[in-house]
Amino acid sequence: MGSRLDPDRPRPVPDMASDAERRRQLTIRRIDAALARIEAGEYGYCAICGEQIAAGRLDREPTTSVCADCARPGGPT
Ligand SMILES: [Zn+2]
Repeated sequence: MGSRLDPDRPRPVPDMASDAERRRQLTIRRIDAALARIEAGEYGYCAICGEQIAAGRLDREPTTSVCADCARPGGPT
C-alpha cells in the first residue's frame, strides 16, 4: 500500500528550473517590485539618482527601476 505523499520522493528545486521558468520568475519579481514602487509613490523615479525616468524608457521597459544614465554599464557620467 503506497502513500501518495511520499516524503522521500525528490522534489524539483529552483536550481533545476528551466531557463524559461527562471526568466518567468525574474519577470514576476520585477513586476512585483514595480507594483511596490507604484504603491510607495516612487514609480518612474530612478532608484539610484532619484531623477525621473524618461517616459519612452518606461514604455520599453515598464519594470525598470533606474534611469538610462544609471543603467549604462559605466554608470552615471
Ligand atoms: Zn539614475
